[in-house]
Amino acid sequence: RAKADGRARVVMYDEDMHHRASMRLETESQLARAISRDELRVFYQPIVDISTEETVGFEALVRWEHPDRGFISPTEFIPIAEQTGSIVAIGEWVLTEALRQVQAWRSQLAECHDLTIAVNLSARQLQDANFVQVVSDIITRSGIDASAVHLEITESMVINNLDLASATLSGLRGLGVRLSLDDFGTGWSSLTYLKQLPVQTIKIDRSFIDGLGGKDPQAPAFVNAIVSLARALEMDVVAEGIETREQLSELRRLGGSLAQGYLWSRPRPPKEIPGWLAEEKMRTVRLADLRAVS
Ligand code: C2E
Ligand code: MG
Ligand code: MG
Ligand code: MG
Repeated sequence: RAKADGRARVVMYDEDMHHRASMRLETESQLARAISRDELRVFYQPIVDISTEETVGFEALVRWEHPDRGFISPTEFIPIAEQTGSIVAIGEWVLTEALRQVQAWRSQLAECHDLTIAVNLSARQLQDANFVQVVSDIITRSGIDASAVHLEITESMVINNLDLASATLSGLRGLGVRLSLDDFGTGWSSLTYLKQLPVQTIKIDRSFIDGLGGKDPQAPAFVNAIVSLARALEMDVVAEGIETREQLSELRRLGGSLAQGYLWSRPRPPKEIPGWLAEEKMRTVRLADLRAVS
């Protein structure tokens, strides 16, 4: 009896593994076709100047609108795309779409001529010998100022091949784009990479921001240290994941200057952005009026 049970369990385990493996294969091949089937979407999350709470730019965040499964998060499909290599085509598509879109807003919307656009890169893209040329062509075709383009990297992306990655990053800097070190503080040797890589912006990881507002007594010290470091290195610093007014006021007290988070907006589809910017203009003008009279 025990033997029979054991066998049944083995069979079930097998079937489960088999099911997952074939699901995975199906996802991989569907992902490879996602671009040509027009299933990828770029959402935009505002990055604000914390002194005025005005939007200075956006981060582009990709989503996969699957015909049966609905919206799939990048945390689910980007790792698969990285393993199969389809990240190279996806990354190129996201960059092309985001630069085109933001340049359209810059040229069409009043008071939005300086909007910046941040796009996440993957390790595989940096290893491509043509990558600098690819980025250069996309910038030229979009018509955007290279200085408005911020490319986000993480230390885990460069860990395996620091020399090659550094060379590519220097090439990108040569185009005039800005480089940001994303998820700062979550890796093993953030300071080493900060020292070695030609980055102009540090993005403080959400895990540090989460502790602000009394939740973690050590969090302010970490945020303060990162902000001071950025300032001393003459880099910009963006706090990721601001969700509450308490976190915002603590960040202000600690000297932060830029932030993004659900407090202002979740990543939104592009059609919502012009209306959202117009509303924000009214809000911030009113805020400035209030400050002027008080
Ligand atoms: P990331 O680059 O660190 O992006 C920030 C993530 O934090 C986004 O998740 C964003 O929606 C989320 N976030 C922003 N504010 C808040 C907040 O206040 N609270 C909370 N809880 N979350 C917040 P998302 O869009 O799911 O993206 C996850 C990750 O997927 C990104 O992390 C990035 O590493 C990767 N990713 C997204 N788009 C791309 C892409 O086009 N290419 C590549 N290579 N990776 C991408
Ligand atoms: Mg990012
Ligand atoms: Mg991040
Ligand atoms: Mg990340």
